[in-house]
Amino acid sequence: MINNDPSINIAIPILPKRIAGLKDISLNLWWTWNPRGKNLFKLLNPYLWKETRHNPIAMLKNMSQEELNNACSDEYFIREYDYVYNAFQLYIQDNNIYADEPLPIAYFCAEYGLHHSVPIYSGGLGFLAGDILKESSDMGLPMVGIGFMYPKGYVRQIIGTDGWQNGAEEPINKDVAPIERVLDEDKNHFTIQVPFIDPPIFASVWKINVGRVTLYLLDTDIEKNDPWDRQISSRLYTSDINQRLRQQIVLGIGGYRVLEELGIEYSILHLNEGYPAFALFERVRSFMENENLTLDEAIEKVKQTSVFTTHTPLQAATDVYNFDMMSAAFKDYWGKLGMSKEQFMNFGLNPDDPNAGFNMTVFGLNMCDNRNAVSKKHCEVANQIWSHVLPKKEDATSTIDYVTNGVHIPTWLGDDLASILDQSIGEKWKLLQDKLSCWSFIKDIENKKLWNISQNSKVLMVNYIRDKVRVKYAKEGIDPVVAMAEGVLLDPDILTIGFARRMTQYKRPDLILSDLNRLEKIVNNRDKPVQIIFAGKAHPADIVGKKILQHIFKTAQESRFGGRIAFIEDYGENVAKYLIHGVDVWLNNPKIPMEACGTSGMKASINGTLHLSSLDGWWPEGYNGENGWSFGEEPSDDTKDAEALYELIENEIVPLYYDYENDTIPNKWVDKMKEAMVTIPSEFSARRMMKDYLRKFYIPISLTLQKSKK
Ligand SMILES: *Cc1c(COP(=O)(O)O)cnc(C)c1O
Repeated sequence: MINNDPSINIAIPILPKRIAGLKDISLNLWWTWNPRGKNLFKLLNPYLWKETRHNPIAMLKNMSQEELNNACSDEYFIREYDYVYNAFQLYIQDNNIYADEPLPIAYFCAEYGLHHSVPIYSGGLGFLAGDILKESSDMGLPMVGIGFMYPKGYVRQIIGTDGWQNGAEEPINKDVAPIERVLDEDKNHFTIQVPFIDPPIFASVWKINVGRVTLYLLDTDIEKNDPWDRQISSRLYTSDINQRLRQQIVLGIGGYRVLEELGIEYSILHLNEGYPAFALFERVRSFMENENLTLDEAIEKVKQTSVFTTHTPLQAATDVYNFDMMSAAFKDYWGKLGMSKEQFMNFGLNPDDPNAGFNMTVFGLNMCDNRNAVSKKHCEVANQIWSHVLPKKEDATSTIDYVTNGVHIPTWLGDDLASILDQSIGEKWKLLQDKLSCWSFIKDIENKKLWNISQNSKVLMVNYIRDKVRVKYAKEGIDPVVAMAEGVLLDPDILTIGFARRMTQYKRPDLILSDLNRLEKIVNNRDKPVQIIFAGKAHPADIVGKKILQHIFKTAQESRFGGRIAFIEDYGENVAKYLIHGVDVWLNNPKIPMEACGTSGMKASINGTLHLSSLDGWWPEGYNGENGWSFGEEPSDDTKDAEALYELIENEIVPLYYDYENDTIPNKWVDKMKEAMVTIPSEFSARRMMKDYLRKFYIPISLTLQKSKK
């Protein structure tokens, strides 16, 4: 027997009444940031849990009716089930803390990093967006998300013997992803037409429950569309510029349409990066049509009520569409706004390069009075590079403010640490997490206990890596040298440095390989050995990035490093969690000031994995001299920076890690871990970030809107 609810794509066996709530739990990503939620599914069938890569829906689908019936008579399971289901319901029903203020927010982003069963992310931008939805849910902020369903996901990374990254598609399996169809009145899959775009494009709509927040995803892979249009949403960050433009039209204008047609009320529009910025045009049009505003009034209102977050310190990194492409796509559109073509195009015109085309960042900056960069340092850079675009007024609406990114603590904090928090402070730590004092209890944890947690995470990481390679070897019979380069010889007992991020030139992934003879000595130090673990994907079109990756992979194959340099294939949310918890040092060495913020170092630091970074992105705000290390010149100089990095490792990091001083653990190292774990979580929590967004933008906008209504 199968489930016949048309909104749900899954054929789960009929759940016994006693545990019927598993359906609700599995269709809400809430469980992913609740340790007992995760554990509940694992209890049900640990083998399948692993086999389905922690996907409750895939798991339930693969269980027999008998197995499910048996679970009902398992006392321990039932107790856990009751606890989790009760906690889940209380969470969902909890009154919105911010029910009146501010007004609801619609959050638009091209990607969301939520869980690996929903592969609609590529990296940092997506994880930020995912953490924002989770935190808004925890805080009871009225937010709704808009994004894209990418049937073909982002590239899955497969590295050949020669170290070259080959991409493979990782199609999303809609049958087992935690997604639901949105239905129209006739119980058909709800579909919109992107307004005034010719030829017409249609998109059907899915939803994902992120706690109390709903994320709607547009999907163009439907029969109603021409084959070429079906491919619009097929892949994240396609290099085909025409498809890219069409993606962004569907995301922005189509996404706006979804909210209107579903009657979802919201007042504030928040655009995360320029990709969804076309929503601003649709917002102008909607104000003119629904509120009878003139074009100028509508533009003014859009400016006042929309927030634009920029993420890059480089002008060249924004999307620019040439005017011919723009004209072809929008020829039926600008008239609907009562604009001339020239007026329309002027919104995206970059005065520094007026012939290049329509610039999405310029457009976002022009149309939103509420703008922000993502760290203090990025703010300085962003105001410099865009000063020619910003209005020449002498008030706050003429600059780019900043809200430094933060991370969703319940997602990224290790389960062992979370349970110590629960025991020491109780559940209320979640309310206090952005207060420095919340974290001072860490100082009281016995050094030995903390050390054991971190070393145990390292064992789990090494086991995970070996198992990943073992499975690959069993399936494909890979060259043993490749197996070694992918980490089978890693040692859970030695100092481990991790470098996991996108493989691209400005991040200098191979800086630490600058002097291989020196590195060889560091790695093979008889008494104080070191190993280095790399991971990260290159963008499929980034040849330089792929060459850097290849260089690392080939170095990892050299026998002189004895398997102590490893490259872990297919970096994603799951690998990231193992590495962040498992390594001792988190290395970050971008060319200053190219890293707008970076968030993986925050995830590492809150777990006591010490951050070793150039003073870029968030680190100038986070580093206090004791809670990690900084190095490097500004502006960056590869030779000097490599020298400084080696010196730090040789003279400070290695000696400190192996300084046991007649004890069984390195106490000074653990003290440093504690310093990071006390000083970093509150300031770099998503809670603090969302409070900044509230204080700087959402609440002032709400007050203005409420005043204008009176
Ligand atoms: C946090 C995270 C990122 C972003 O981290 P950066 O420091 O910006 O590189 C990228 N990928 C994954 C899987 C992450 O978890």
